[in-house]
Amino acid sequence: MKIIDVSLTIREGMAVWPGENPVVLNRRTKIEEGAHANVSFLSLGAHTGTHVDAPFHFIADGSKVDEMPLEVLIGPAQVVEVPDSVKVINAEVLGGLKIADEPKRILFKTSNSHYWDLDTDEFQIGFVGIDLSASEELVKRGMILVGIDYLSASPYKISKPTHDELLGAQMIIIEGLDLRKVQAGFYTLYCLPLKLHGADGAPARVILIQE
Ligand SMILES: [Zn+2]
Repeated sequence: MKIIDVSLTIREGMAVWPGENPVVLNRRTKIEEGAHANVSFLSLGAHTGTHVDAPFHFIADGSKVDEMPLEVLIGPAQVVEVPDSVKVINAEVLGGLKIADEPKRILFKTSNSHYWDLDTDEFQIGFVGIDLSASEELVKRGMILVGIDYLSASPYKISKPTHDELLGAQMIIIEGLDLRKVQAGFYTLYCLPLKLHGADGAPARVILIQE
């Protein structure tokens, strides 16, 4: 059994969505300064790093993070590799990928994964996202969870159609996956978001298990 951590490390200075608050993570008391213990303070947006989107993110009466079913967050998943030449995942691209009927959880590994190798923490606006046509197809196929390797499921500045479609169908979205070490194939997904009361998103520790 192999455990692959596909979560980003949360740290100060990491890329966050434009306009979002930067991560604050620092020690307020320090042993080397005479304190009994190291104690850190943490402040971050709910959509920081590897995180889930709850339906409530775009759907006014949608369900919240603390209502997400663990039965959806945990279970078999397919990782699909999208060729680096693809700049947007549309229905046509989707049709050309080898996506199995089961499981109903799909994680897209795209050229976005290369961003995590860059020597910069700048937010990348040219990331690969899923457009409305592909979102409709994912809903039609009965997917219950979709993941992608940058900070939004949709192309930059076109957030609403994709999120409305996926979240409107009660799909759980995982964004900000680090799939660099993962090959296409079938895994068991464990996605455990922080249990934030009434929230629209939450950072998550996400692992894939390869049997
Ligand atoms: Zn999000």
